[in-house]
Amino acid sequence: MSIEVRSPADGSVVGVVNDQRADEVTETVERLREHQTSWEDGGFAERARWLRRYRDWLLDNEDAIARALQSETGKPWAEATMEVPYAADVINYYTKHGERFLTDETPRAHGPMTLTKRQRAVHRPYPVVGVITPWNFPVALSLMDAIPALLAGAVVVVKPSEFTPLATSAALAGWAEIGAPPVLTCLTGYGDTGAALVDTVDYVQFTGSTRTGTAIAARAAQRLIPYGLELGGKDPMLVLSDADLDRAANAAVWGGICNSGQMCTSVERIYVEAPVYEDFVNRVVERVRELRQGADDTSYHYDVGALANQAQADIVRRHVDEAITAGAKALIGGKPTGTGTFFEPTVLVDVDHSMACMREETFGPTLPIMKVADADEAVRLANDTPYGLSATVFTRDVDRGERIARRIEAGAVNVNDVFTNLFALPLPMAGWKQSGMGARNGGPHGIRKYCRTQAIVSSRVTPKAEPMWYPYRPLRGKLLRRITRLVMARDVRRRLGLR
Ligand code: NAD
Repeated sequence: MSIEVRSPADGSVVGVVNDQRADEVTETVERLREHQTSWEDGGFAERARWLRRYRDWLLDNEDAIARALQSETGKPWAEATMEVPYAADVINYYTKHGERFLTDETPRAHGPMTLTKRQRAVHRPYPVVGVITPWNFPVALSLMDAIPALLAGAVVVVKPSEFTPLATSAALAGWAEIGAPPVLTCLTGYGDTGAALVDTVDYVQFTGSTRTGTAIAARAAQRLIPYGLELGGKDPMLVLSDADLDRAANAAVWGGICNSGQMCTSVERIYVEAPVYEDFVNRVVERVRELRQGADDTSYHYDVGALANQAQADIVRRHVDEAITAGAKALIGGKPTGTGTFFEPTVLVDVDHSMACMREETFGPTLPIMKVADADEAVRLANDTPYGLSATVFTRDVDRGERIARRIEAGAVNVNDVFTNLFALPLPMAGWKQSGMGARNGGPHGIRKYCRTQAIVSSRVTPKAEPMWYPYRPLRGKLLRRITRLVMARDVRRRLGLR
């Protein structure tokens, strides 16, 4: 069985991949599993050496990967070329710091029982990690999780989206091409292929919709395997009246429309304080009017591409149509362009929280903007959502922005910026509420999450027997109790046994 991959820009077939069945998934996983021990035992330096060679291969083949990405996603060239550099940054970060993050910890003894022991916490990988990814950033999202897992010593199987398997397959083929050990591969297929992967691996890292994430969590719970979920969002932007309106408007337009609005962290709804509402809306409309939309080649002709598939285009259309029927106004855009899955960049006003465009993930080039009385109302509305991926606050008072950030129920808040937390690898990237479970990145956590921490305790002093061991005798028992009381109590009377 095979899958025809189509260009969302014009519907043409741009590639064909296998739809891999469950038995092929099991076979592949077991074949990779055989190489895990030698990969782990080879040590961090050796793994890092392969990853650095792979980074160089990715950079050398960036254009070919970006062209594959463009063909299956309809991204403009500027966006198709964003993913490989991101992966290179992730490789650089984890190859530089990973060894330290994975170093054994040797905590000091905290009580008499371990006084003569050597204690170690050892970070050892889950042998096989499955990485299941969506169609919006096929290469970056596959590699950003595969890289730390590989460096931790795991072997990794990536299952990209059925809509966008070409660029990921091409990028992962590079691993074999550099002659690296067979510890990283790609399996293509629909949801069933992903489900079969969940059934065979030791850890699942999933990026995609909340619906699929919930199904994966249920299956992983049945197998008692751990998982990380990076799910959908409905990210709010708050624009306070003291904000730099030019920067805020530019950020809103890029943050909402980049990748045709198909970022998990897209600006999906905007709340603006009343005194600057009109001014801000005018600036946003002006910027949106300047956007060039179309099927790009490699010449940076266009700013906005197509939506990834027809189902996505249908959702965007429904959100906009329903909002307009319920009284909202499209100040610009508001409908499909008529070609492929292109949808006009759209600014909606007179929206409220009864509308899907303010409550459900739209994942399209839409900017619904709502006027609010003050920051308190903006925070209340920002939190009025089942999602909690990230948020943005614009104000000239950065301290106030950070105070407001602490009131927002989201895993990340950017003040006077959009998306920058995605590049802050020492910080966790985590969705709260329905937006995820666990976190990626976050310094040591980013790599240790792929490890089981093993406790190794060694006796440095080895008499024939320990005082606690058999046989139990009254005298020894009483003595032990006196000693433990002396050590455990925190006041003199109890220490001396006077109470
Ligand atoms: P999706 O959930 O439909 O599919 C994602 C992947 O899961 C695909 O590879 C699919 O084949 C696979 N899959 C489907 N059913 C499965 C099952 N039962 N078991 C295992 N795998 C299965 O998501 P999508 O529509 O491709 O992507 C869009 C979603 O991804 C949006 O909701 C977006 O917000 C989210 N996303 C989140 C982040 C993040 O970091 N939080 C990043 C990017 C995208």
